[in-house]
Amino acid sequence: MPQVTEHGGGVWSLRVPIPDNPLGHTLVHVLDTGRGPVLVDTGWDEPASWTALTEGLAALGTSVAEVHGVVITHHHPDHHGLSGQVREASGAWIAMHAADTAIVRRTRAAAPGAWLDYLADKLAAVGAPEGHLAPLRAARAEGRMRTLPGLSAALPDREIVPGELLDLAGRRLRAIWTPGHTPGHVCLHLEEDHPANLPGRGRLFSGDHLLPGISPHIGLYEDPDDSTVTDPLGDYLDSLERVGRLGVAEVLPAHQHAFTDAQARVRELLSHHEARLTGLLALLTTPLTPWQLAERMEWNRPWDRIPFGSRNIAVSEAEAHLRRLVKLGRAEAVPGSSPVTYVAV
Ligand SMILES: [Zn+2]
Ligand SMILES: [Zn+2]
Repeated sequence: MPQVTEHGGGVWSLRVPIPDNPLGHTLVHVLDTGRGPVLVDTGWDEPASWTALTEGLAALGTSVAEVHGVVITHHHPDHHGLSGQVREASGAWIAMHAADTAIVRRTRAAAPGAWLDYLADKLAAVGAPEGHLAPLRAARAEGRMRTLPGLSAALPDREIVPGELLDLAGRRLRAIWTPGHTPGHVCLHLEEDHPANLPGRGRLFSGDHLLPGISPHIGLYEDPDDSTVTDPLGDYLDSLERVGRLGVAEVLPAHQHAFTDAQARVRELLSHHEARLTGLLALLTTPLTPWQLAERMEWNRPWDRIPFGSRNIAVSEAEAHLRRLVKLGRAEAVPGSSPVTYVAV
């Protein structure tokens, strides 16, 4: 696959590698504007990724110093990792939805160890066995606490306001708020005729919200300071319908490849989640903790081969599904259970 793909109408994508990650790369999109190139996402903060980004821009006949602005779909490090370096090299502004900016601010300000403490308490509460908690406690005790990506992520200087056009010279790019994968995830709707006249209304930079062959991770929003009972899976399903209604001609996602027929992909993902929720209800005929539910859910490999860190993500996903079932009145917490168990109603 080429490093640089021309999509027509002043839009390109650059393949920026994500080291040691099965996703392989982030597609950083470059949008030509009257004041210079604007990037949608920037890529992982690694020297090899920076090289790919700068060489890709050079191949387009521009340079990182010319970048006018950076629009971030969501705060994850494969999307926002290089934003600070791009801003330093160019003076570009960085724009993000307020809900994800709040996460960046909180992560930067967190006391060392706060995240590990939160994770250990939370995992104990959802029924993680002692064998899973011990390495977390050991890392805390040995002071190995500030190794997570995103601890020094760049603070954005502009807010992406849902429904509004971004201030881009000569382009019509509208922010569509699509919470679910993160609370402040946005898709960007390029409201211009498709350059190859494909039927539909413009193109959509979809970030991680809508990908051609991957169902994005939907976990809890995991805010240690907020006890609001959110429903990220419910948010995600609503966001899918919102994006389906746009009727776009083509989707330009942040991983894999561009594709058409967004509505078909939306329908596929909606029925995937409906089937998964139904499958979980069958498991919940006996009361289970979120951890036990995660152990019994279907993943891309057997539970005993899922690495330590990925199990935390899997449990978060199990909890998001439980939240949805509870909200729908199809499951409930068993009163007095500790760690809490859930059962189908
Ligand atoms: Zn993501
Ligand atoms: Zn991603």
